[in-house]
Amino acid sequence: MRKRVIVVGATGSIGSQALDVIESRPDLFEVAGLSAHEDVAGLSAAGARHPGVPLCLSGAASPSQGIPLAGSSGLDELVGNVEADIVVNGASGSGGLRPSIVALSSGKDLALANKESVVMAWPLLEATARERKARILPVDSEHAALFQLVARIGGGSGGPRGIEELIITASGGAFRDWSLERLKYARPDEAASHPNWSMGRKITIDSATMANKGLEVIEASRLFGFEPERVRVLIHPQSLVHALVRTLDGSLYAQVSSPDMRLPIQNALTWPEVQPCRFGRLDLAGRSLEFRSPEAERYPLLGLAYEALAGGEGATIAYNAADEVGVAAFEAGRVSYVDIARVVAKTLELAWPSRVRDLGSIFEVDGGARVAAEAAVGEIECI
Ligand code: MG
Repeated sequence: MRKRVIVVGATGSIGSQALDVIESRPDLFEVAGLSAHEDVAGLSAAGARHPGVPLCLSGAASPSQGIPLAGSSGLDELVGNVEADIVVNGASGSGGLRPSIVALSSGKDLALANKESVVMAWPLLEATARERKARILPVDSEHAALFQLVARIGGGSGGPRGIEELIITASGGAFRDWSLERLKYARPDEAASHPNWSMGRKITIDSATMANKGLEVIEASRLFGFEPERVRVLIHPQSLVHALVRTLDGSLYAQVSSPDMRLPIQNALTWPEVQPCRFGRLDLAGRSLEFRSPEAERYPLLGLAYEALAGGEGATIAYNAADEVGVAAFEAGRVSYVDIARVVAKTLELAWPSRVRDLGSIFEVDGGARVAAEAAVGEIECI
């Protein structure tokens, strides 16, 4: 039987690649529903390839010609009430949290690319998945790799406890070879050009600062239940090794493939099976692989992510919110590139609750952190 798949964020980078995977294997998958936030033309074009499938424009106030569902209530209806086996959540930012909860609440498996869902609401996601017997399958390349490695390497008698540490790799972003002095003058367009991956703009700037890797450290620690000190980051400029696990005997096991998100997306859609895949296959002959430790001074947002993890659930929500505010202020020309980390550091200095377990409290902390981060932006602007 074919798996019925709802794609949230169908016109974005993850969503359009999910559609590539689905359309490449009509024997395995069919589209059950599609949503986009604002891209009417993109959503209509995707819908035209899958006639009769319900469409939702979540950023619209009311339904329009050919798009019967609108707004966040329309998205709830699509994700919660349309019959499907699995939801691919490729929404970006904190707006991706609600569809994650609704998908799991309705008993559907969740192929999760929205890292904010894990960073902001892991206890709630995990409890909802357990209660409804739904699975959370990570799509982020590093976590998809860890998911396979933990299941296959740590799946023996030792279980994940046979694994000593998780290692995720980072490309190092657009500025990995810039001098620290030059970073002060980095412009948004320079931060938004990624050496290896083609992704959305916010996540590409987050790759330059490594806030993206910081969010991924938080995500890995929560998803796999590993203490922060057992999650490490290595810079790997080629982006071919996505993650490694070290077992108790000291061995390292790695997942290696071309940087193509369609491979982890397919693996999430077919889990626990592995199917032939036409994307991401890599010939290692003639390739060299380099690794180095990230420099703390170049990537202060990475260290701040570990601080936020140590601070608890409220601090990780604040980390994410402050980074969104800091990046927006950088894009708007209000603060410099290096100020993004200052905005996050100042926000984390405030007291944040260690446990935040329901949606209302999550958004309350998120809102409070945005106000605090805006204040930090204002202070920096005045200097
Ligand atoms: Mg990633």
